[in-house]
Amino acid sequence: MPDIVLATLNARYIHAAFGLRYLLANLGDLRPRAALAEFDINQRPLDIVEALLAHQPKIIGLGVYIWNVTQTTEVVAALKRLRPDLTVILGGPEVSYETETQEIVRLADHVITGEADLKFAEVCRALLGENSEFGIRNSELEPELPAARALPKIIPAELPDLAKLALPYELYSDDDVVHRVLYVEASRGCPFTCEFCLSSLDIPVRQFPLEPLLAALERLLARGVNQFKFVDRTFNLNLPVSRAILEFFHARLRPGLFVHFEMIPDRLPAALREVIAKFPPGALQFEVGVQTFDDATSHNISRRQDLAKLEDNFRFLRQQTGVHIHADLIIGLPGEGVESFAAGFSRLVALGPQEIQVGILKRLRGTPIVRHDAEWRMIYSAQPPYEILQNRLIDFTMMQRLRRFARYWDLVANSGNFVETTPLIWAGQPSPFLAFLRFSDWLYAQVGRRHGIALATLAEKILDFITQERALDPRLAAESLWRDYQRGGRKDRPGFLEPHLPPLAKISPVSRRASNPKRQSRHRVVTL
Ligand code: SF4
Repeated sequence: MPDIVLATLNARYIHAAFGLRYLLANLGDLRPRAALAEFDINQRPLDIVEALLAHQPKIIGLGVYIWNVTQTTEVVAALKRLRPDLTVILGGPEVSYETETQEIVRLADHVITGEADLKFAEVCRALLGENSEFGIRNSELEPELPAARALPKIIPAELPDLAKLALPYELYSDDDVVHRVLYVEASRGCPFTCEFCLSSLDIPVRQFPLEPLLAALERLLARGVNQFKFVDRTFNLNLPVSRAILEFFHARLRPGLFVHFEMIPDRLPAALREVIAKFPPGALQFEVGVQTFDDATSHNISRRQDLAKLEDNFRFLRQQTGVHIHADLIIGLPGEGVESFAAGFSRLVALGPQEIQVGILKRLRGTPIVRHDAEWRMIYSAQPPYEILQNRLIDFTMMQRLRRFARYWDLVANSGNFVETTPLIWAGQPSPFLAFLRFSDWLYAQVGRRHGIALATLAEKILDFITQERALDPRLAAESLWRDYQRGGRKDRPGFLEPHLPPLAKISPVSRRASNPKRQSRHRVVTL
């Protein structure tokens, strides 16, 4: 039985816990005494507790994130009621700031704040009576584990030297390789200071030594990994490194290879463009944070962005490369009203990214965005993920409409299910934003919900909207929808299309893979 269990609740099974694997890889001599236990947020907390206690551990380390803090709080409460002698150590961004106000922190024995890759091992050694810098000797540990009382509750981790970290990639199991998104990283930190973002607190940008990283990636490729998601916040910051990594993958191109990077949008010099352009369509995905096109709002949140360069880079990526672009915008930033957001959204649509993620501003613990609370009358939900409910420029009712807009945009435009039909929603309209908002309001009035809308229902509603509200020829609209249906690999022509279409054989099928890069890439970008 392991003395130490490292556990977390992932948002979905498909996400392998990256942080836990770092902790395990860096446990040194304690590693044989430790085990990983991964769950997801849809599992019942008591079932998770049962599985954890079955290991009979002395220490449980839990990764706490914005998506699992509610359920993990329940897990910790039950663990401590059932086994008060068990030491529970928390870590992760959700418990690295504002610890004094959190119930989960009150319940746990210790919290390691910051990057705990090396600190967790130190703390475990202290608790298990091994030599440690906390100065606890084995002889003091009678009965077992009173050392918990000798350690402070909140233990800040020093920034680890990345060159000293053991890489965690061997800890991806064969099952992970086949079934899950595998995370990798070449750097940590971000030099920018966007006030809504946790990475703005992580100013020093540190690079992992390139050679061992590439060797680890080579081993993953040899094990059959085809999908890599880089979690670096600004992959294109260090040009020689980003170029070397892109060239590494380009030299190993094979069918199905897919690599995801987060990029800053206004930095794509010729040396990087050259290598990016060599990749075939569908092999690269860039997550590009635009967040806002409004200069005054950018200034409010201390975000620097060269919009002319950004637009030029978007045009390059769309016209001269096969990169799949996932662009982010945020609703609710201090100083940005609906009109300004609408202009930015329509401007982004014109740049043609395959996906636009419309995020609702979140008040992440520790971020300096709170300095705007009074001036902009920012009101956030008290529950995770702490989304904004209203501010001085966008009242609650409007924010609810925008929340639905974001959800429906995801279902219709980002899903890849209606690639050809989506633009018909704003055909002939001056503003894609206003046109889609109109659709969003109309759809909500029709179905009364944001979730659980069957694809066929959604398709039928889109047909109704573009024929009734946009007065589009029903035959053209139905043909467009039917081609979208076939791109998704479906052969079952829905009944509501029949009255508008000629017999099946007269409409040429469209190859699913060739025409829908979203479906080639298999997985979606997941953001907090
Ligand atoms: S939003 Fe992006 S650029 Fe800004 S601080 Fe966060 S990671 Fe850095």
